[in-house]
Amino acid sequence: MSEEILPGLFRIKIPLPESPLKYLNSYVIKSDHKSLIVDTGFNRKECFEAMTKGLSELKIDLADCDFFITHLHADHFGLIARLVTKTSRIFFSRPDKEIIESWEGFEPMIEYAGKNGFPENELRNALHQHPGYKYGSDWTPDVSVLEDGETITYGNYCFECVETPGHTLGHICLYEAGKKILIAGDHILSDITPNIQCWSDKENPLEKYLASLDKVRNLDVGLVLPGHRRLFKDHRARIDELKLHHERRAEEILDILKKGAGSAFEVASDMRWDIKFDSWNDFPVAQKWFATGEAISHLRFLEEKRLVTREKKDSRIKKYRLV
Ligand SMILES: [Zn+2]
Repeated sequence: MSEEILPGLFRIKIPLPESPLKYLNSYVIKSDHKSLIVDTGFNRKECFEAMTKGLSELKIDLADCDFFITHLHADHFGLIARLVTKTSRIFFSRPDKEIIESWEGFEPMIEYAGKNGFPENELRNALHQHPGYKYGSDWTPDVSVLEDGETITYGNYCFECVETPGHTLGHICLYEAGKKILIAGDHILSDITPNIQCWSDKENPLEKYLASLDKVRNLDVGLVLPGHRRLFKDHRARIDELKLHHERRAEEILDILKKGAGSAFEVASDMRWDIKFDSWNDFPVAQKWFATGEAISHLRFLEEKRLVTREKKDSRIKKYRLV
């Protein structure tokens, strides 16, 4: 089903079965020439049907559409290969394009998780059931890289690309200064905290994310159009909440490490998680993976700030301790 949010700008809710996110907000800017679709859904039947139904209500033909994808996750990118036609352009970021092109499967990440104390075989089995894996795009069409500050115009909307690394390395938003709207992808969401994971000692995604929050905070925004859940107005208040959340998380982790050194997996098991299971042992493996990725992003952030360090350089499992 489609709904008009602003003149010529529509939302199609794409269901995400089995995902706690419930649905993806796909935005459509309708124009007499070419229309623009922002984000697509998983590569699965339910998503494809919702998208084509929404477009037919709007009397938009896929052959007249271009695409803008905020980031590489399968709930945003997965369906693209089934939607593109010979004439469509896909706007995407360079870093996420490079990640897709250099993708060598889950093994490097599983190995890194193992070094952070995660039982590797449990993770390997769980990841092959993960919707991001099952419902990803089966091939990758050519994309047009959109850099920070570049603009694209559809209908009465002139959007500027705003690079917002953090949730992924190449996450991008669209900002319409004249209309004060921000199409935010998963950079800021209303009632859920975007997941910031880290799976490499070379990265510090939380630092990038916090800088991206400040960057967007400076924009004059009247309405945020996020990738999931409800639209919202006061983006600065929401950004302040998200920054506070991460500060508290950092304090929580420093407190945990006061009891002694621990791997990221052990630290994650001691953190408070807002999910329905009583104990860490009851968490599904996919949730433990998310949680550990979050813990690593905080530990890497604190490591770069020289507040935590690696306990023994030579041990196979990386254990963090307070400096
Ligand atoms: Zn998403």
